[in-house]
Amino acid sequence: MSEQLDALRKKLNSAVSQRQTIENTRQEQVRTLAQFIAKLSLVCKGMDIELDNRLAAFRKSLHKGANYQDLLPVIDELTDLLSRHEANLEARFRALHQGVQAAGVNLQKRKGIPAELRRTLRHLLNTELVDAQTAVDFLPILERLVTIYDQVMASRSQQGDDDTSDNTQLQPLIDELNALSSEISLEGELAEHLRQLKSQINAASTIDNLLNASVEIMRVIVLSLSKERQSAQHFLAALNHNLSELQQAIAKTSDRSKQLDSKISAVYRQIDENINHLSEQTAQATDIQTLKETVESKLSALTEQLLSKEKLEAQQRDTLSQALHSMQSQVEALEQQVAQYETKLERQRLVSLQDGLTKLPNRIAFDERMDLELKHFKRHQTPLCLVVIDVDHFKSINDSYGHSAGDKTLQVLATAMKKSIRSTDFIARFGGEEFVMLMPNVSIDNVVRPLEKLRHTIRSIPFKFKNEQVQITVSIGVTQINADDSALSAFDRADKALYEAKNAGRDRLILSS
Ligand code: GH3
Ligand code: MG
Ligand code: MG
Repeated sequence: MSEQLDALRKKLNSAVSQRQTIENTRQEQVRTLAQFIAKLSLVCKGMDIELDNRLAAFRKSLHKGANYQDLLPVIDELTDLLSRHEANLEARFRALHQGVQAAGVNLQKRKGIPAELRRTLRHLLNTELVDAQTAVDFLPILERLVTIYDQVMASRSQQGDDDTSDNTQLQPLIDELNALSSEISLEGELAEHLRQLKSQINAASTIDNLLNASVEIMRVIVLSLSKERQSAQHFLAALNHNLSELQQAIAKTSDRSKQLDSKISAVYRQIDENINHLSEQTAQATDIQTLKETVESKLSALTEQLLSKEKLEAQQRDTLSQALHSMQSQVEALEQQVAQYETKLERQRLVSLQDGLTKLPNRIAFDERMDLELKHFKRHQTPLCLVVIDVDHFKSINDSYGHSAGDKTLQVLATAMKKSIRSTDFIARFGGEEFVMLMPNVSIDNVVRPLEKLRHTIRSIPFKFKNEQVQITVSIGVTQINADDSALSAFDRADKALYEAKNAGRDRLILSS
């Protein structure tokens, strides 16, 4: 008899420990989930306030069992990703801002703009554009600038105003538009569209052609901005959808699991009562027959209860494992989405830091690097030189052999320069036919040799256009960064040195005193 009771107790204990295992697994899953949600919040932070709040609330609603020690490396990684994302957007925004400002100022200079329109344009440029802090503020301003362009064109064609083929007047505009469009970096179709616009600009023979092209450039910018927003929004919408599904699944599981829990507890109580009752009666029994009957009836009740308990627990295990399984795959899907988005951000970052024509780092990348090198210099006082390189008489290459020969030349020059610098030097296309270079750990006494070598390398490249041998040279200005320098003051000095080199006859290197 007591053996049977022992067996019953054992069975009961093992049932309890089985329940413990299920509970542990569940806790484990919840912890993984909490970690994932923490990670997700970091990636998405600031993109969408609504999403931020949702993620925060969701995280709270999960168990608080997450081990924060484990979260730290994940957080580090994502903070880094996020700050790069922010810096990237910020830099792109600044570049666009400047480009649009320049284009607007240029438009202001046009004759024959109706007074009303001129006032609107002035307000747009001097107040609204200055106040625009984010790409979202900026977008409607751009759209309106495009409209103004359209209106200027319309008013000009009504007036029959026509300054056809005055090339001396067109050229500065062409240059400016070229500069503006080379500041924009785009992907895919839009990039192709921009390339076509560039050749339209260079083939433009009337002011109206040019205005047309500039309106188109604005459109391309607006399109690319809204495309970017759309894809971010799409990502967020999908994420939101998946998250709410996940939340529902979890709510359902815990409801179901609570129901089963209370049923199981009730059965446990009954079993416990029965066993206690049985022990009492066993102790009180006076004759063997009564004892036998009592035990038999109680045992069959117990067996039934145990069976029903086992059934309930099996049900609970099934529900849990099903729910955990579907949660697992939902988490995986979410993680995949986030990974895709990270890749996309990374690619955008690469595109936006690279000059499309020469594949050298662009001005945005240069500004970032300059900041870093300046900080390093201020901390460690190791020497740092700033170099500006400008192609001599480059305009005449375009004029004599065409714009695409000019483009090709810039590509060849960029490749040659990249090849002949040290791996620690940093070279970028600053704009047009101008390049800038940072040379860390070199003082001004030691720049002459490598830079003269660079100058000679360039002048010995055997260019050939329209069957003519052409020599291309560059002028170079250099300065060493000093303790009081800002990026701007250093640039001023290097620029002055370059200007001296131009004035002294070009194809030379001048060190700033
Ligand atoms: P200098 O020796 O004084 O520097 O004379 P320059 O002709 O090189 O200088 P200028 O600033 O007068 O002209 C620069 C020219 O570079 C004008 C512009 O059309 C051309 N340019 C700027 N960016 C590009 C480009 O991406 N492709 C081509 N083909 N030409 C460009
Ligand atoms: Mg030049
Ligand atoms: Mg120049």
